[in-house]
Amino acid sequence: MRRFCAIVSMWGILLSQLAAFGQQAPAAEPLLGFTAKSSATERHWEQTFQQIPDPKLLRDYMQRLSARPHHVGSPYDKQNAEWILSQLHSWGWDAKIEQFQVLFPTPKTRLLEMTAPTAFKAKLEEPALAVDPTSGQQDEQLPTYNAYSPDGDVRGPLVFVNYGLPADYKQLERLGVSVKGAIVIAKYGNSWRGVKPRVAWEHGAVGCLIYSDPADDGYAEDRTFPEGPMRPKDGVQRGSVMDFPHAYPGDPLTPGVGATENAKRLDIKDAKNIAPIPTLPISYGDAQPLLAALTGPLAPETWRGALPITYHVGPGAAQAHLAVTFDWKLRPVYDVIGKIAGSTEADEWVVRGNHHDAWVNGAEDPVSGQMALLEEARALGELKKQGWQPKRTIIYAAWDGEEPMLLGSTEWAETHATELQQHAVAYINTDGNGRGYLLAEGAHSLEAMMNGVARDVQDPESGVTVWKRAQAKQISDAKDSEARARVRDRVDLQLEPLGSGTDYTVFEHHLGVPSLNLGFGGEDDGGIYHSIYDDFYWYTHFSDTDFVYGKALAQTVGLGVMRLADADILPYRFSNLSNAVHDYLKEVQDLLKQKQEQVKEQNRELEEGVFAAINDPRRPKVAPKQETVPPYINFAPLQNAADALAKSGEHYNKALATALKGTPDPAKLATLNGRLLTAERLLLNDGGLPTRPYYKHMLYAPGLYTGYAPKTVSGIRESIELKDYQLAEEEVPKVAKAVSDEAAFVEQMAVELENLPGR
Ligand SMILES: [Zn+2]
Repeated sequence: MRRFCAIVSMWGILLSQLAAFGQQAPAAEPLLGFTAKSSATERHWEQTFQQIPDPKLLRDYMQRLSARPHHVGSPYDKQNAEWILSQLHSWGWDAKIEQFQVLFPTPKTRLLEMTAPTAFKAKLEEPALAVDPTSGQQDEQLPTYNAYSPDGDVRGPLVFVNYGLPADYKQLERLGVSVKGAIVIAKYGNSWRGVKPRVAWEHGAVGCLIYSDPADDGYAEDRTFPEGPMRPKDGVQRGSVMDFPHAYPGDPLTPGVGATENAKRLDIKDAKNIAPIPTLPISYGDAQPLLAALTGPLAPETWRGALPITYHVGPGAAQAHLAVTFDWKLRPVYDVIGKIAGSTEADEWVVRGNHHDAWVNGAEDPVSGQMALLEEARALGELKKQGWQPKRTIIYAAWDGEEPMLLGSTEWAETHATELQQHAVAYINTDGNGRGYLLAEGAHSLEAMMNGVARDVQDPESGVTVWKRAQAKQISDAKDSEARARVRDRVDLQLEPLGSGTDYTVFEHHLGVPSLNLGFGGEDDGGIYHSIYDDFYWYTHFSDTDFVYGKALAQTVGLGVMRLADADILPYRFSNLSNAVHDYLKEVQDLLKQKQEQVKEQNRELEEGVFAAINDPRRPKVAPKQETVPPYINFAPLQNAADALAKSGEHYNKALATALKGTPDPAKLATLNGRLLTAERLLLNDGGLPTRPYYKHMLYAPGLYTGYAPKTVSGIRESIELKDYQLAEEEVPKVAKAVSDEAAFVEQMAVELENLPGR
């Protein structure tokens, strides 16, 4: 579901003391977690693996899987699941379908009209295009809508709210505009879409429209489809508006437990993650007459899009009427789960997934990721035939129901939660792919391993490694010389933390399984996301048209899976984690300081009469109110914990390097790995984050008001952002406890490594 191309900078640069593990590491240096001998064997199998993925087959899979619309509950969704199952079987995998019953609403009626000052009825339809053969499959296409909008019939004045985020409503307040009782119209972008109705509702709006402005993914960027890749006038972004950031992802009726046939289910009215107000996505073709009818204050300059109109905020004479009803039915989701059993450490699981359901044909989202998963599975099956057997069990998952809001992955992981917490080593996710640079997000204990993988895969366009290309992009994009120096001087690329919007969420945030999210992108623009035009025709004309990046993705993820499954000692590196914790600590300290300075300055300007003196009586603005300056917060417990983790992380690195120089006893290693794999679980807190107990990870979470984008140390950071300084202070020891428990565990593991017999 998530759009990788919209994410600007996925790799940061590690402020690292890890110079010893430098980018220029000679090829002979053993892989992280391997002895010299096992590393050589691993490299042999990895080289064999890398030669197998075939662009021609990737193209065939895409054509097959995107041939018809395949949303949750559709005939082709089930057929695809069965086909994926048969492929896994043919490649020698032990595979089955696990089925769940989830609440998935589809539209019954959709009406949007303007009743004043002129009458206008929105079309709410995406036309078929003659050159695009699958765009005409109307009988099977879901209409344009936002899933988990409530039923409703509302009327009110229209107000334009920019991207519909909290900062936008602050500006509206200064303009003296209220949205109480209004229907707001927001632009798509800058947040996960479900944040928009949520914030509108918090400010008293009764309905929410979300449209795609041509400035963001339409003609202002490039030619529109089918002449170019961008969104045409009537193209609409479907999508879920489930309030998962404030509540929980997955089936609304079975929070925290698997949505199996006989699961106990909530009444729909008690489900906490249904959006609060009726919401509908529209095209810019439908939005333009509505926006053109607005009067009231001019929209602030940064709010204006690329439509040939003067953007006003409203309200004015423009009155809207929005009516939507849905068929609130339970529908089946089909997760395809394949397995290759491990040899000596079969109770340790490496899990890898990508969803197979789409909003419509979904060539880019999700098939461009799913096809790579399939080629990896075929290649691993091939290696097995040639005699390779992983130490650990590998589980491949083609999830269903990701688009409505991570239904298949969440319900599967909730069903198997206890086993996953006992056995899971890592989860690797993808969700689509394009042309360009490797984009990697994830748990920082996996960062060093991931850097190693990226240094061993060749970029198909430049011929350098995908690591080198990602680094080069960073140098080129760096905003100043300091940032550039940071890129050049440092050794490892830092993983961006995990937010949400795709299937790793339950693994990382709820169960504490260290996760990665990978993909290539950044070279092509597109405007077909979640529309009927995301199909084989579009992908083969405007994206990775020769499927070489599909191959690169299969190589990258496959190597990650193999290293995690084959290493003598699980390839975690905790000094990288400690590094990230230090960054986050500094960020929240800076954030508090910034808030204090901001409030002081604003109070001073109020006392000086600045706002009153510069007010334009013809375009009046409301002055802000005096605020209390934020108090100081005691970060010391977290500072101490972070330092302890740095120390134990270094100790662990030394102990690991020494242990791998010998020939450690396999049985002892199995016992050690069995404990080591629980390391990330210590970063969970049972009570979870404030106001959202589902999210238990103390370091990573989806932002309450960003959705896709992460908020790290959210309990502290988001409490400061929401001006609840007392809560922020209370959260410090909670985060500190998780980090210091982790530090103690890593220290203990270091000691055990030192005491391994067989050195
Ligand atoms: Zn997707």
